[in-house]
Amino acid sequence: MSITFDGRVAIVTGAGGGLGRAYALELARRGARVVVNDLGGARDGSGSSDAAAKVVEEIAAAGGTAIANGASVTDPEQVEAMVRSAQETWGGVHILINNAGILRDRSFAKMSADDFRSVVEVHLLGSALCTKAVWEIMRAQAYGRILMTSSSSGLFGNFGQANYGAAKLGIAGLARTLHLEGAKYDIRVNTIAPTAATRMTEDIFPPDMLALFNPDNVVPAALYLVSEDAPTNMIVGAGAGVVQATYVTLTQGYALPEGRRTVEEVAANWDRITDRSGEIVPQSGAEQAMTILRALQATQGTS
Ligand code: NAD
Repeated sequence: MSITFDGRVAIVTGAGGGLGRAYALELARRGARVVVNDLGGARDGSGSSDAAAKVVEEIAAAGGTAIANGASVTDPEQVEAMVRSAQETWGGVHILINNAGILRDRSFAKMSADDFRSVVEVHLLGSALCTKAVWEIMRAQAYGRILMTSSSSGLFGNFGQANYGAAKLGIAGLARTLHLEGAKYDIRVNTIAPTAATRMTEDIFPPDMLALFNPDNVVPAALYLVSEDAPTNMIVGAGAGVVQATYVTLTQGYALPEGRRTVEEVAANWDRITDRSGEIVPQSGAEQAMTILRALQATQGTS
C-alpha cells in the first residue's frame, strides 16, 4: 500500500453503517486510529443504537484500532467531548470526515418547518460543529484533512429534497471558506458528493444495481481527499467507481454601459450574459469582485 494513514487519527461521523462504515474500515486497514462516531438512529434521525460499537468490533477483528462514540453531531458538548477523548487517547486529530446525515423527504409544499430544521441541523450545523471542535487542534499542529459530504441533490437539485439540498449546498459553501482560512495551517478541505446503495437510498436502487453501487466503490475517492497529498477546495462526485470533479463557474458576463443600466438592457443581452464561452472558476469571492472591476475597465477602454 503506497498511500497509508499510519500515525494519523481520524474521526468519521455517522460511521455506524453505509458510507461512513466503509470509510472507517479502510482508514483503519491503512493504519489510521479511528473514532467511529454514530448516534445509531433511524433514517429520519429518530432513536439511537450501538451501531458505532459494532463497526469498532469489525475494525478490531481485522487488526485495526478504533473507538466507538455515540455523540450526536448536533450537540456541541458531546462533539467537544468526542474530540477531547480522541486527543487525549491518541494525541491529535488529523482527519475529520463529516458524513452523518438523515433524510426527511417531502415536497416543499408538504414539508414542515421541523422537517427542514432537523435536516439542516444534522447535516450543516453538525458538519460545522464537528469541524469547529477539531479546528484549533489542526491549526496548532499545522495539519488537517477535512472531508465534507454534499450531494447531487444540493449541487444540482432533486424533487422532494428542499431541506436536504439546502443543507448539502450549504456544506459545500462551508468548505469553500474553510479551505481559505485553513490553507496557512495545511488544513485541506474538500467535499464529496457520493452515490451509493445504503439505507438512505434503499428505495432508489434496483436490486441488480446494489453491487455496483456498493459504498466500497466510493472509498478510494474519499480516502484520497483526506490523504497526505490531498488537493484542497475540490468538489468530487464518486459512485460505482466513477470519480468526477464539479466546478462552480462564472461567465465573462456583460457590463451594462453607463446610462443603459436598465432591466431592458439585461433582457436584450441575456444570451451574452449567460454565454459559457470563456467562463472561469473563481477560487474565492474576492476573485469574482476582481472580474467585475476588469469588466468595467474593459468597457471604459472601449468607450
Ligand atoms: P446512512 O444512513 O447509512 O448513514 C448516515 C449515518 O449517520 C447513519 O449511520 C446515522 O445513524 C448517522 N447519523 C444520523 N444522525 C446523526 C447524528 N445526529 N449524529 C451522529 N450520527 C448520525 O446513509 P449513507 O448513504 O451512508 O450517508 C452518508 C452520507 O452520505 C450522508 O451525509 C448522506 O447525506 C450522504 N450522501 C449519500 C448518498 C448516497 O447515495 N448514499 C448520496 C449523497 C449524499
